[in-house]
Amino acid sequence: ASFEEMGIKDDLLRGIYQYGFEKPSAIQQRAVTPIIQGRDVIAQAQSGTGKTSMIALTVCQVVDTSVREVQALILSPTRELASQTEKVILAIGDFINIQAHACIGGKSVGEDIRKLEYGVHVVSGTPGRVCDMIKRRTLRTRAIKMLVLDESDEMLSRGFKDQIYDVYRYLPPDLQVVLISATLPHEILEMTNKFMTDPVRILV
Ligand code: AMP
Repeated sequence: ASFEEMGIKDDLLRGIYQYGFEKPSAIQQRAVTPIIQGRDVIAQAQSGTGKTSMIALTVCQVVDTSVREVQALILSPTRELASQTEKVILAIGDFINIQAHACIGGKSVGEDIRKLEYGVHVVSGTPGRVCDMIKRRTLRTRAIKMLVLDESDEMLSRGFKDQIYDVYRYLPPDLQVVLISATLPHEILEMTNKFMTDPVRILV
């Protein structure tokens, strides 16, 4: 299927084409439709497969930009990946005027507070800083409808398990969860059992 056939909104299609993509990569072919239909999805995929772009485009599709509240939250293992994801969202979402913010350690808390109080649709961050911002009530969770756990196995190897569970506890109950991981060890399967309902499984 092409991006048009996936039912992606016109202003988002313009952003995707402007960014230089012509047709979906393998993971995008298989994961985009179930995600925009609202299904929980487990995608077993490595970096370089188009997974970051897949996250960006599904988040842009799902967010209602007329509502200035955080609606999608992406957790990543590193500051670099969280920033990269934010950048791709801003680029692809250019024509839908999406507001995104990278909530990452090492940047000033003051900047997080300013940006979050101004109002953003999407937060892409590392578990520690995101958890901190939620507990300070700077990051409001009530309108969050989608949680993306990117490079989940890597987040667990970096010791973020407790923070991920902590963040999850603050999110609304009817949450959609997308989990991406190169490998699916026992601890990841435990998370999928706890966080997800009848997930679609995709191996790329
Ligand atoms: P990602 O895993 O999303 O970081 O993608 C890896 C590389 O492939 C990046 O350089 C992307 O810009 C590129 N890429 C991702 N999706 C597509 C696509 N559908 N068409 C062309 N290039 C893509």
